Amino acid sequence: MYDKKSDKAVEFISNEEILRCLDESKKQKPLEFYMDIVEKAKKEKGLTHEEVAYLINCNKDEVWDEIFKLANKIKNDYYGNRIVLFAPLYLSNYCINGCTYCPYHAKNKTIPRKKLTQEEIKKETIALMDMGHKRLALEMGEDDRINTMDYLLESIKTIYSIKHENGSIRRVNVNIAATTVENYRKLKEAGIGTYILFQETYNKENYEILHPTGPKHNYDYHTEAMDRAMEGGIDDVGVGVLFGLETYDYELVGLMMHKEHLEEKFGFGPHTISVPRICPADDIDTNDFENALSDDIFIKIVSLLRIAVPYTGIIVSTRESQKSREKALKVGVSQISGGSRTSVGGYCVEEEETSQFDTSDKRSLDEVVNWLLDMGHIPSFCTACYREGRTGDRFMSLCKSKQILNVCGPNALLTLKEYLMDYASDETKKKGEEIIQKELANIPNEKVREKTKEYLQEIENGNRD
Ligand code: SAM
Ligand code: SF4
Repeated sequence: MYDKKSDKAVEFISNEEILRCLDESKKQKPLEFYMDIVEKAKKEKGLTHEEVAYLINCNKDEVWDEIFKLANKIKNDYYGNRIVLFAPLYLSNYCINGCTYCPYHAKNKTIPRKKLTQEEIKKETIALMDMGHKRLALEMGEDDRINTMDYLLESIKTIYSIKHENGSIRRVNVNIAATTVENYRKLKEAGIGTYILFQETYNKENYEILHPTGPKHNYDYHTEAMDRAMEGGIDDVGVGVLFGLETYDYELVGLMMHKEHLEEKFGFGPHTISVPRICPADDIDTNDFENALSDDIFIKIVSLLRIAVPYTGIIVSTRESQKSREKALKVGVSQISGGSRTSVGGYCVEEEETSQFDTSDKRSLDEVVNWLLDMGHIPSFCTACYREGRTGDRFMSLCKSKQILNVCGPNALLTLKEYLMDYASDETKKKGEEIIQKELANIPNEKVREKTKEYLQEIENGNRD
């Protein structure tokens, strides 16, 4: 029985309800039916999982043209032309799980195993800071005896304590296996930004096959992780699906139901949604996964998420190629990684042996910033919301009322200015300065405009946040 209020994963993401929605949505309806849903989305208050099911299975081009346009508009209404940048930092690839799509699975005896020491973490972080990064996502495999919570907490402390000539890492997000409320509380106390955990797939039966061994095999424990994280006080959680493991419409409806559950239970939903697609890796052949997505479907998924959950960040990583990221940026993506290495220690040593997956976008951070500027985006390294306590429901209510735009636009310009002064190539600097001048003129509130000019001048004079 589908019970939205239930705390049990199998009930709040009910297989029967997903199948019912998909069954119904596959019967094609008249054009007006879909256009009515798009009209509702134009109010920018989001859509339900049922409405999303209808749209993803709609085969009318006119409807999709409207969705793409609306996704772009909603992105601009809520986030402006800012794109937040971050990089992953792999701490350890030891893992006791058996995930069949990941080369870090326990049975892979060919991949070298590596766990960074605190000294190595320091070096990796400095290498990332030297590029200009201010926001990291920590990644590690699951192994209670090797990758302990104490090790992770110490690593976070190490990272936050590093003082670089141009500032420090301002936000450490964490992507680790599902854990206990107590551990989530410790992560919160350590000052993490977002706790990220991908669901991989919402289909329980398939989930259990794809995760044959290890603690991750437990679907309920994994799926209820965000509830525990929120109970532990983490109010920014990042959800996602590894697209390619199950049919995409199933995942999309599951993702929406997960979001609805969190909203209903805690009063606000996920801070971000990630849309990774399965990539080739050490002993992983993507041809073994029959649900791999085409580029066209990928873009449909991103745009649909944008109109269905207007106030949640959408993240696309370097798993995607430059071309695919370009398309995704036009339909609602708000955060991307840049200059990423997906190997343990990869920022200091050019080796790919311990890589988790093959990245498609291998450009440097400066190249990514330059490319974003060419497309009219403002690359942002801003972390002000997090540092000023605008997280969870406070962030959501600001975002829902679109106030985030008035606060974030000027902040993004300041962090871009810092990047241009401290790290950018001459060409990037020139383009960046031009866009700052243009954007400055667009700040409607005169007081804010004058204050921003003042701060920009301070940065020019060598002051840093
Ligand atoms: N070990 C933790 C976990 O599994 O939740 C977190 C870190 S893991 C390095 C991060 C994510 O990488 C996983 O959630 C999975 O979705 C993704 N991943 C694993 N193998 C992949 C592959 N071959 N291609 C793309 N993404 C992959
Ligand atoms: Fe381990 Fe995470 Fe890879 Fe699974 S996805 S094998 S848990 S690192």
